[in-house]
Amino acid sequence: MSTVPLIDIRNLVYDYPGFRALKGLNARIERGSVTALVGPNGAGKTTLLRCIAALETPVSGAIHIGELDVHENPRNAHKLMGYLSDAFGVYQDLSVKQALTYAARSRGISSEAARTAVLETTEKVQLTEKLEAKAGTLSRGQRQRLAIGQAIVHTPQILLLDEPANGLDPEARSSLAKVFTGLSREGMTLLVSSHILAELDEYSTHMLALDQGKVLEHRPLNTIATAGQSGPVWHRLTFPSRQSVGPALAWLSSQDAVNDVAVEGASMIFHHHGDAQDLAALVAGLVGAGLPFIELKRHSENLQESYLRSLDRQRARQAETPPQPAAEETP
Ligand code: ATP
Repeated sequence: MSTVPLIDIRNLVYDYPGFRALKGLNARIERGSVTALVGPNGAGKTTLLRCIAALETPVSGAIHIGELDVHENPRNAHKLMGYLSDAFGVYQDLSVKQALTYAARSRGISSEAARTAVLETTEKVQLTEKLEAKAGTLSRGQRQRLAIGQAIVHTPQILLLDEPANGLDPEARSSLAKVFTGLSREGMTLLVSSHILAELDEYSTHMLALDQGKVLEHRPLNTIATAGQSGPVWHRLTFPSRQSVGPALAWLSSQDAVNDVAVEGASMIFHHHGDAQDLAALVAGLVGAGLPFIELKRHSENLQESYLRSLDRQRARQAETPPQPAAEETP
């Protein structure tokens, strides 16, 4: 996966009348990643997605897709993106084929190219069997997949989805997860907001947690989605006490095969890029540097745990700092 960010969000500030919803938000979304956008109600997830989709204009800050400033060139940005709102609608009387053809033509795709695009899209969203069925006769899950089809018929690089699994039964959610996994394998970058965190585990490679219009945490995940992938593996290194962690932190962070080091109590969690021999050398290095650890093991997590830990840490920090005067009010 390239480390060059595909979406670069810088100092984004967005105001609703009398209310600051995004408060100087920064994030870099990697190309090919599937990012779970999580956070409590009102955190700013929908607002952020709408800003990225150039449907809202921020007060200040910028969003770039590669070199493109989305708010300076919204039309060009829309060619690169698909967006599905949490309140999407489909035309009940159009068949799947008609709805997708309409979406393709309204994106400026020629009628000949639209025929191919429609067939390819129905395959991607697993609706080939329903090509001639009217949208009004589809199940909720199928309608959801049709709406996703409409959003990706122009083969965008990025797909933004606001609460896509809302109201779906477990089977429909599982079908949706398969669609997302397929799109991700084809190289599409996905940003998916949801409150159903267990499900995001299946396909997310990163977590972007928001709280009160700011980034609470943004990092790669070691979830079901990333567990089988080649590449870095998460490890947990545990020390006899919290006090032993400090000296080891600088040493570990300076190792070539190590990055994304995070401290958690008396443990450090980190990404290791090497093979078994490199890991053995790391252990020898720790011992040689006089850094006594008690356990090193592979670390796996689920999104729900990660998110709740982030929230706990944030609330603990907030409890330590006195409240700021009316920061969310706009001037
Ligand atoms: P949820 O999980 O409930 O969907 P969210 O994280 O998507 O929430 P947003 O919908 O982006 O949050 O809303 C962010 C904040 O902005 C909330 O406090 C919300 O009340 C406020 N807000 C949203 N829309 C408006 C509006 N039109 N006018 C004023 N405030 C708004």
